[in-house]
Amino acid sequence: MGLHTGGQEQRGQYMKESGDNVHRHAWVEIDLEAIRYNLKRFRKHLGPDVKIMAVVKADAYGHGAAECARVALATGATMLGVATVDEGLALRKTGIAAPILVLAQPPAETIPLLLQHQLIPGVTDMEFVLALGEAADSHGSVAGYHLKIDTGMNRLGVHYSDAGDFLRTVAFHRGLSLLGVYTHFATADDVDTYGFNVQMKRFEEALANIRFMGIDPGMVHAANTAAAIRYKQAHFNMVRIGIGMYGLHPADITKPLIELHPAMSIKARVSFLKPVSVGEGVSYSFTYRSPGSVLIATLPIGYADGLSRSLSNRMDVLVRGQRLPQVGNICMDMMMVEANQRGSMLKPHAVVELGDEVVIVGRSENEQITLDDMAKMLGTINYELACRFGMRLDRVYLD
Ligand SMILES: *Cc1c(COP(=O)(O)O)cnc(C)c1O
Repeated sequence: MGLHTGGQEQRGQYMKESGDNVHRHAWVEIDLEAIRYNLKRFRKHLGPDVKIMAVVKADAYGHGAAECARVALATGATMLGVATVDEGLALRKTGIAAPILVLAQPPAETIPLLLQHQLIPGVTDMEFVLALGEAADSHGSVAGYHLKIDTGMNRLGVHYSDAGDFLRTVAFHRGLSLLGVYTHFATADDVDTYGFNVQMKRFEEALANIRFMGIDPGMVHAANTAAAIRYKQAHFNMVRIGIGMYGLHPADITKPLIELHPAMSIKARVSFLKPVSVGEGVSYSFTYRSPGSVLIATLPIGYADGLSRSLSNRMDVLVRGQRLPQVGNICMDMMMVEANQRGSMLKPHAVVELGDEVVIVGRSENEQITLDDMAKMLGTINYELACRFGMRLDRVYLD
């Protein structure tokens, strides 16, 4: 098993054999083999004719955009999706030459960069696309773009009933080349299928209009992970896989339909360990007091690393397959756990030692804590938590 670090160069990159950073004993582990497995699973699910766009926005949902993009392209993805021009530029800087779609239309000021680095914008307005065409034409080149069609999410896009006219208006332009059209579903992960069906119908209507005008829409794509898993009719030429590639399910409803392996684990090592006598408080505000005969272990990971303070006194961590309760308020850079099991005479006490590896998210022997568990406790979704853990923690890649 090879180990190497990725992510921002300014972060500590010195690695020990054990895999974590010698400068800081808290890290995110990314299992690249899990990402390969998930993409192969999607390939099987989609059949051979549907292309895969790997969505690597927000630093690949906290997993590291460059590493994940490279693995995805080597495992059958043919295109990358990002949210911003800077995310696209960062990928180009690492030498990635694959087509990159900027999923939301960027500011017009970025047009020279788009052309120079061959980033394909998702287009939603006429003024932008004409400026793009003019800029390309003035260099004697042609700018490729995808048209984003709004079929009901009401976030971005040309209204579905205007898409045909929009494309007919710019079809003359020698500086523009329509490479694809797409829409985005607001409710592909809902148990209720009504919203999805309405959007499908509107997208089909827009496509029929475009074709009726004699315009070739190019690549047609609509499905995110949830739609790719649930709705064959939404596959068209390509699907845009984000969360599923990282082994997370967009909702409970997709769980029985495809097996995925989570790629992200969060780990830390015990940095301090001491007995705390009965009645003593632990951490800010003493929201926990020692019931007596407890060992308190300190872990060097806190809310500045993405571990929400709202989980204080509510979450567990794993050490050698055993659950230990987190106690006291989670601090900015640290948190505490009870290192021996409270009052349990039935189970053997966990013997925790200084330097022991602690799993905050991931698997430890037969026990597992998932981002889904954590998201449920926090009233949010796994997407948000995965992104959050990319903020300060170093990433370690298992290849
Ligand atoms: C983020 C995003 C996706 C990927 O969605 P997942 O649910 O993570 O698969 C697809 N399409 C667009 C337009 C997006 O913004």
